[in-house]
Amino acid sequence: MTKAIFPGTFDPVTNGHMDIIKRASKMTDELIVGVLNNSSKHSLFSPKERVEMLKEATKDLPNVRVCTFQGLLVDFARQEHACIVIRGLRAITDFEYELQMSQMNHKLDSTIETLFLTANIEYSFLSSTTVKEIASLGGDVTPFVPSCVVKKLSKSF
Ligand code: ADP
Repeated sequence: MTKAIFPGTFDPVTNGHMDIIKRASKMTDELIVGVLNNSSKHSLFSPKERVEMLKEATKDLPNVRVCTFQGLLVDFARQEHACIVIRGLRAITDFEYELQMSQMNHKLDSTIETLFLTANIEYSFLSSTTVKEIASLGGDVTPFVPSCVVKKLSKSF
């Protein structure tokens, strides 16, 4: 059974994340979307809210599970018996950080492999940060995020 983890902050989930989730879920028996519960990183939405939005957005994907995790990704992967980590690559700017993370994770646990999916060109400019910025300035974020996120963002700003 192929089990993979797609870890991230997802503050909030965007259509770019959703594209990776849909593609990765087709390649695996089970895909766990791991929402990082990192108290040192300031986020707009709480881990609970981020999980709720992701659960709503992935409700039609039966082999996708959403949960939070804390601490090292390799520990979470071991706990879940998953040996694949999925990450999205938007541009060369993502590459250096992602390369370092994947090599460090492999060093910490050589049974864990990172698979990179390149961003769909339609979403390669999209990030949670830009979506929050647009929403905070009163812009329309409908084309960029699942509908449940549009509602949450409009309540927040
Ligand atoms: P992190 O803080 O771990 O980078 P994010 O929630 O920003 O968390 O991103 C989680 C993953 O989703 C990362 O691998 C990131 O590269 C990928 N990702 C983010 N936005 C997009 C996008 N528009 N298209 C494809 N992948 C994306």
